[in-house]
Amino acid sequence: MSIQSAPLPSQLVDRFGRQVTYVRLSVTDRCDLRCLYCMAEDMAFVPHKQILTLEELARLGRCFSELGVVKLRVTGGEPLVRRNVVWLFEQLGVLPGVRDLTLTTNGTQLARHAAGLKAAGVTRINISLDSLRPERFHAITRLGDLHKTLAGIDAALAAGFQRVKLNAVILKGRNHDEVPDLVRFAAERGLDISFIEEMPLGSIGDHDRAAVYYSSDAIRRDLDRHWELIPTTESTGGPARYFRIAGNDTRVGFISPHSHNFCGDCNRVRVTAEGRLLLCLGQDHSVDLRRALRANPTDDARVKQAIVGAMSIKPRGHEFALNGHPLILRHMNATGG
Ligand code: SAM
Ligand code: SF4
Repeated sequence: MSIQSAPLPSQLVDRFGRQVTYVRLSVTDRCDLRCLYCMAEDMAFVPHKQILTLEELARLGRCFSELGVVKLRVTGGEPLVRRNVVWLFEQLGVLPGVRDLTLTTNGTQLARHAAGLKAAGVTRINISLDSLRPERFHAITRLGDLHKTLAGIDAALAAGFQRVKLNAVILKGRNHDEVPDLVRFAAERGLDISFIEEMPLGSIGDHDRAAVYYSSDAIRRDLDRHWELIPTTESTGGPARYFRIAGNDTRVGFISPHSHNFCGDCNRVRVTAEGRLLLCLGQDHSVDLRRALRANPTDDARVKQAIVGAMSIKPRGHEFALNGHPLILRHMNATGG
């Protein structure tokens, strides 16, 4: 009988004693949608040669796992628009230290990829869905066809994914009245759902973030009229606080950067598609891992040294404010949400 050894503690510890065990890898800044809270309508994307190759991304995943990272989330931009991305999942899916290999997607390409992702070892999928009304969905995403994303959700379930989670950014006057419908949709299908407060990342034209702010507490109040929400201490290793619906398996999460700061127990860092290691979603502290990778094509130790060194500049937390201009000029698609 084989005895599974417990994972080693992470070698990635910052100045505040927080262990980094979770990395979000952005594999592209491109996307087939233009959600109005995420991107401007006329975005300039990073030239292809500045983007990490799939081989470089796989190598980074290996370095992080050898340093004690146990959870990898592949994100973007829209990760499934990257050519051959399933190959990357296959490489990450066999890393011995990684317990959780997850994907965040808008779902438009899931119908053709869900089975391949499951076979590659993806453990969970988050799918963004802000509205169940086709016209509204189209207006919020600027380009989206609701039926494609719904087909993607069905495909994920048919491929056997458990605990598929919906992500919904809630905006006052745009979709806040759909919160109960979104929870009902999730509960009927055995999905989890998280509601996200919009974050001020990047300049996005005339979309007024302060005007559409809708707090997690307001969403809770809306839901209390329909369901009994029971607090749980469950975590998926991310920033969401979870509740269960009484009599149902569905979990309802709240990601509340404004109203309930989650920085104190931050366990994660991000890598942009260009290979910039971002130490905080809401600050600009970063280290250029692409340079470390390309200067040391066969020496992982140097890359790991750069990652360990970066921990000393991980800031205490974000300083998001609701009052107008974004503090952080990079958009969410460039950040790896
Ligand atoms: N394209 C994929 C998707 O939409 O799921 C993955 C990348 S997207 C940047 C990841 C998540 O970030 C999505 O759930 C999206 O709704 C969320 N997001 C984008 N911009 C945001 C913002 N300014 N504030 C809060 N969440 C945002
Ligand atoms: Fe694309 Fe996701 Fe940003 Fe929407 S939230 S524009 S789907 S990257």
